[in-house]
Amino acid sequence: MPTNPALETAWRNLNRWSTILWLLCFGCFPGMFLLTYLLNDVLLQEASFFVVALAWVGAFAWAGSRMASFACPRCNRAFFENWYFFKPLRRNCAHCSLTRWAKEMPPPAATGS
Ligand SMILES: [Zn+2]
Repeated sequence: MPTNPALETAWRNLNRWSTILWLLCFGCFPGMFLLTYLLNDVLLQEASFFVVALAWVGAFAWAGSRMASFACPRCNRAFFENWYFFKPLRRNCAHCSLTRWAKEMPPPAATGS
């Protein structure tokens, strides 16, 4: 079965953002403590935990918005519909139902005439 390079790239991008998002999510507490420690004790910066937490939330929101705005490779509309209906584990496009990780691009489902 031939693979579509555009699709491969799109899924790889999506996978990268979701990995970053999960890492930020699960690494939240150890990551923030480590970063605070590094900044304060190693680099001797007067960074408060609050600033680090804020930066963390910012990074999380950034990665989340990048993922939420992922455009479907087939219909070019938001794969996850929008921020409110953002489901990172969604398996198909909110608009054309293109299955995530699809190896080739099936024609859009017929929606009547
Ligand atoms: Zn789509």
